[in-house]
Amino acid sequence: MLIFDDEIAIARSTALMVQHLGMDAISVTNPEAFFQAVSDWRPTHIILDLIMPGMDGVEVLQSLAKQGCTASIALSSSVGKRVLSAAQRSASEHGLRIAEVLPKPLTLAALQSFLADNDETAPSPDKREKLTPKAFEPITMADVQAAIDGKQFRLVYQPKIDCATQSLKGFETLARWEHPEKGLIMPDRFIPLAERSGLIGPITDQVVDLSLAWFSSIAGVASIAGHSDLSLSINISARTLGSRDFPDDLELICRRTSIPCEQVILEVTETAAMDDQLAALDMFTRLRMKGFQVSIDDFGIGNSSLALLARLPFSEIKVDKSFAMTASKSKESKAIIKSTVDLSHSLDLLVVTEGVEDRETLEYLQSIGCDYAQGYFIARPLSGEQVVHWMLQQNENRAHRLL
Ligand code: C2E
Ligand code: CA
Ligand code: CA
Repeated sequence: MLIFDDEIAIARSTALMVQHLGMDAISVTNPEAFFQAVSDWRPTHIILDLIMPGMDGVEVLQSLAKQGCTASIALSSSVGKRVLSAAQRSASEHGLRIAEVLPKPLTLAALQSFLADNDETAPSPDKREKLTPKAFEPITMADVQAAIDGKQFRLVYQPKIDCATQSLKGFETLARWEHPEKGLIMPDRFIPLAERSGLIGPITDQVVDLSLAWFSSIAGVASIAGHSDLSLSINISARTLGSRDFPDDLELICRRTSIPCEQVILEVTETAAMDDQLAALDMFTRLRMKGFQVSIDDFGIGNSSLALLARLPFSEIKVDKSFAMTASKSKESKAIIKSTVDLSHSLDLLVVTEGVEDRETLEYLQSIGCDYAQGYFIARPLSGEQVVHWMLQQNENRAHRLL
């Protein structure tokens, strides 16, 4: 547990309480020491005082989000409840795992509850993808170019299930960069840079090649496990919308790998589709005519335009993960998911909710008729080999349930 409080006495006494509860604790009183400890020590839990002189707690949360911090975070402060819960929301929407708001002064019981919180869903350290401190060093365009030339990208696949039957529906392909010195680098750190520097094209090509080859290679195992029409989702960037050859190239690769185009879903973020609507309209129409499916990703966080939804030929809406991640604690998030499900169904679109981190949220999705779900509660992104084990295991579990 890492404790950040500018009052040295509070920081130290909190650390003592945590150690008393049997957990390692480090206390820090300034931002430099804090970020150093976050990257070197990789805490599983953080307690952060939101308001410290000369420091902006919201900025600290933003930097943590940028670093891809996966620790469970508790905000502690003596400010009013509304401000704390707004800060909590903003942090969750940045993708941070905010567990609690701890009132000051801290009590042993409150700490105990924080430590017990979401033990069921928190990824155990061995299941997390391992990042080294070097993974956070700055990346340049030349690095990305070298990664493309050296084929340093590796793919992981996250299962997506049918909410009603809980059976496997398909996978989303997510890119990882295995840097020879820096180790594993997550896509949020290189995809935006690749997009800005015009290098996303060759990355998409590699992702498409690798993922379709993999998908075709697991068809046999999938059918043994009782799945004949799984889907494969691939993220494509706004830049790709302007590439004339993309639909034909993709169709060719599908034919070569014997994958029906209908089983391939292309995910485009809402903002990307908004930026150049005409390019998006052209590209989606061509893709749909070939049989591909098109999904609008991260729905609900951009400047959603309902007109755009109706105008562009999407087949699926993907509710941004920030809503499911906060659904168990926020009735606003639940309301947004439910209205998106209702809206999608009235437009004949399928809905996927991603970021499902607990059973309660999955049950909520079932109760409101959401079609599909994806998230750590169901499965984390898995390597190609892990997927095969996961599928066979699921199949075995189902057979046991039927016996
Ligand atoms: P995305 O398309 O919204 O992908 C979902 C992200 O949420 C993934 O992060 C996934 O690991 C994470 N996630 C899934 N379930 C949960 C959950 O229950 N809780 C939490 N907290 N997170 C969850 P990842 O792999 O780091 O990817 C980040 C983004 O990078 C993706 O967001 C996508 O926009 C982009 N990206 C990844 N691979 C590619 C690619 O091949 N091409 C392009 N253009 N973009 C990619
Ligand atoms: Ca996606
Ligand atoms: Ca998304």
